[in-house]
Amino acid sequence: MIQKILIANWKMNPSSLAQAKALVTEIKKASKVFGESLVVIAPPTIYLGEVQKIIAKSKLLLGAQNVSAEKEGAQTGETSAGMLKDAKVEYIIIGHSERRAKGESDEVINRKVIAVTDLAMTAVLCIGERIRDDEGQYFEFLHGQIKSGLKKLSPKMTKSLVIAYEPIWAIGKDAKRAVRKEELHEMTIFIRKALLELYGKSLAYKIPVIYGGSVDLNNVGDFLHGGMVDGFLIGRASLDAKVFTEMVAITKSSGSPKIVKV
Ligand code: PEP
Repeated sequence: MIQKILIANWKMNPSSLAQAKALVTEIKKASKVFGESLVVIAPPTIYLGEVQKIIAKSKLLLGAQNVSAEKEGAQTGETSAGMLKDAKVEYIIIGHSERRAKGESDEVINRKVIAVTDLAMTAVLCIGERIRDDEGQYFEFLHGQIKSGLKKLSPKMTKSLVIAYEPIWAIGKDAKRAVRKEELHEMTIFIRKALLELYGKSLAYKIPVIYGGSVDLNNVGDFLHGGMVDGFLIGRASLDAKVFTEMVAITKSSGSPKIVKV
């Protein structure tokens, strides 16, 4: 069974350190009853140190929203995987669509995945189509993102990998709707099949496949069962401690997802 994972992607929020500390403190209070689920808080880089101090010795894990592909040097404004490891980061979101939109290429994303897994941190590789065309070309597009994102990632390293399926059209406040659970189920099977081609059955079944895009209290249970995902990458809803911790509770009480046969 794959342990469920919930990752709070705070993006560039909240707007002050005081608010960030208050938010994580509230989540921490509820975390005693989180059970077996892995709950990751990914604050803005500048807040990592303070958030880490608050979550130390709790069940919460620290995440980062981005990383440099380089180890050191003339990289103004960047943060290396080694620096994030020193800051006690365990999960790193890579290739988020908001970063891809700023020009991050598949090649750079792949180098980031390797940099992170080489240091035994977990790479959360985000993939997702911008639109769903009637011809179904988005399947090929996603296949390409998986293949290029995981280039040269050895089978052994897949234990430090999470795939986050985030269809761009379903993300953020401008999204018209979240994905439907049937659509998500189809994608989960498709992603597993792509992983199976790359790593074989026994490893592919162990790589968590999570979903992100307008996840809220109303759809989280449906996605877990109907979508057969192993967890969630949560944006807006993770900025409300009550809503986020309730989502963790729903995920916990929903039991383990059935194995998706591909
Ligand atoms: C995201 O951007 O990773 C995301 C899932 O955002 P939201 O939950 O706000 O749609």
